[in-house]
Amino acid sequence: MRNNVGEEIAHRIAAHGQNFSLYFHLPFCAGKCPYCSFFSVVPRSGEIEEYCRLLHSEIRFFGERLSGSGVSATTIYFGGGTPSLLAPAEWERLFKCLRTHFAFARNLEISIEANPDSLSEEHVRLWKEQDVSRISIGVQSFQDDELRWLGRLHDADRARKALAMCVRSGFSTSADFMFGLAGQSLRSFSSSVAEAIALGVEHLSLYQLSIDETSSWSVNPPEGRKDGYPFYRWSQWYLPKKGFAQYEISSFARPGKECRHNGVYWANGPVLALGAGAWGYANGVRYRNERTLADYAEAIRRNGQSVAETETPDAGKRAHEAAILLLRTSKGIDFDAFSTRYGAEELSSILDTLENNAPPDCFERSGASFALSPKGMRVANSLWTLIV
Ligand code: SF4
Repeated sequence: MRNNVGEEIAHRIAAHGQNFSLYFHLPFCAGKCPYCSFFSVVPRSGEIEEYCRLLHSEIRFFGERLSGSGVSATTIYFGGGTPSLLAPAEWERLFKCLRTHFAFARNLEISIEANPDSLSEEHVRLWKEQDVSRISIGVQSFQDDELRWLGRLHDADRARKALAMCVRSGFSTSADFMFGLAGQSLRSFSSSVAEAIALGVEHLSLYQLSIDETSSWSVNPPEGRKDGYPFYRWSQWYLPKKGFAQYEISSFARPGKECRHNGVYWANGPVLALGAGAWGYANGVRYRNERTLADYAEAIRRNGQSVAETETPDAGKRAHEAAILLLRTSKGIDFDAFSTRYGAEELSSILDTLENNAPPDCFERSGASFALSPKGMRVANSLWTLIV
């Protein structure tokens, strides 16, 4: 590693010679949901503006080091936290800074996560001007009682309006929904999902409620949570009939509306991650930025970048992690590509372990590839334990 670890990350991204993806972590939320332990805080006055100034410095740092290398950003993802908490003027400055310092590929995909309670018409107008392609909205449910139980700040009506506004403005619109909530029935979940489709969403991300370790519910988990299996199974049955293919364990999309940025993660492609707590991957090295606002600010002021931790997995671990990521997707493992990158021996050992220890109807094997079947996706967590 070079003296400045940020220099090393930039060098690895440039040396890869491929286009790369950019991830920005925007760690602010209007309130903290009780089940969530993503890195995010409720911002104090002036904190978002200061964070954006630091992000501009970080963009400059990496932009200068990648300039002239011939590599361009092919996808950009703004995640959080709640990116829609940034005011439109802040977004304008951020895009200006990005366009000054990075080269973009011609078919650039830009995705932004938003929450219904903070998304405004001004955001949508500005994002359209800036050629944002996808907006992903944290709806979670269209049932007010379920939203209240989850501690969300929006109600169903607000979520409907947010989705309709994005669809009307011509964005490829995605909605997140959760299942396994107390009081939730298959009927209430299916009516939420069907309503999103009727509103025109082209991508759905469906998650079982999980209570993260450091969340406030982890101390005193709520009663009445439901087994997620029937909800997931229903989604796998219903969504293909509505034209949504399951292209990843939690993701369903109309043809051509898959999130390309996430595809880069699953293929272990190069991801330059900016912002506090963000994770990136640079040609064999996984890294994480400082994960408190104070440490992030200090690192950016001192070094121009905030990489805090790197990991270089050995060849075996890399192959196993890559297999798990690829098996999340419906395309699965392409034998030739996997063998070239991770070795034919690793490939046969992983496939033998899976096929010798799990029922055959969990997999779909062709002459050229190996993927999980819909049943395999339903039991994926137990399959991963075989090959971690
Ligand atoms: S679930 Fe989303 S909105 Fe809620 S605290 Fe976590 S990041 Fe923020």
